[in-house]
Amino acid sequence: MSDFIPISIKNTFNFSCNDDLACFNQCCRDLNQFLTPYDILRIKKNLDMPSDIFLGKYTTEHYGPETGLPVISLKADSDDGLKCPFVTSTGCRIYKDRPSSCRMYPLARGLARSRETGILTEHYMILKEDHCKGFRNGQTRTVEQWIADQGIAVYNRMNDMLLEIISMKNRLMPGPLDIKSRLTFHTACYNLDIFRKHIFENGIMDHLDLNPETLESVKSDDTMLLELGLQWIKYNLFGDRNSTAFQGTGRK
Ligand code: SF4
Ligand code: SF4
Repeated sequence: MSDFIPISIKNTFNFSCNDDLACFNQCCRDLNQFLTPYDILRIKKNLDMPSDIFLGKYTTEHYGPETGLPVISLKADSDDGLKCPFVTSTGCRIYKDRPSSCRMYPLARGLARSRETGILTEHYMILKEDHCKGFRNGQTRTVEQWIADQGIAVYNRMNDMLLEIISMKNRLMPGPLDIKSRLTFHTACYNLDIFRKHIFENGIMDHLDLNPETLESVKSDDTMLLELGLQWIKYNLFGDRNSTAFQGTGRK
């Protein structure tokens, strides 16, 4: 059984996870783990793997029937209790780059956008599951401290950019995306090494006078490349010219 209990960012909860607990690694089984673009960036860098190879080896993909948006999940081991491919007897082998939902656990974060003002508000919940023993004798921390301790802020920042795009898509292009738009979305979000090739070898942005410094930095910086990719989706699919990279750009 599991319970979701709302909690505010300043409130405390008691929780500690360690390998002495009987439940150690139990939460890395029975997996139904979606990956965000930033999750994939961090894991493929941790494994020193090109994004297309990582996606083929470790993930499954499907397209949302209503939206046509690609959804990427970790490929769990169906012969062994849907175990995560990265769990070992001593814990997570990609721990320093584990996905945002693994970092956040036992908390979950939701975002709501005001229809009147468009302002986003975040809210948090504690997920209490029977198998998880971490609440017994746990350390007391606020939600804010947990976010800082687990290095979640950068994940939230990148994931919020994605949510903004999904919200734009639902507003401006209701219904399933066409195949070309799907491919653009998939490559710019999830298949970053191929996206980089499209920029520098296939010249997909050559007709725009992008800032040379931006272009130079995305040659080696994956986070900046993903930020450019998310802005490219807004520009390419929805005609949005307000993102920093494409502001004031025009055809050469
Ligand atoms: S990525 Fe790591 S922490 Fe997350 S489910 Fe897999 S083994 Fe567990
Ligand atoms: S305490 Fe909870 S999070 Fe930690 S290993 Fe056990 S089930 Fe997983």
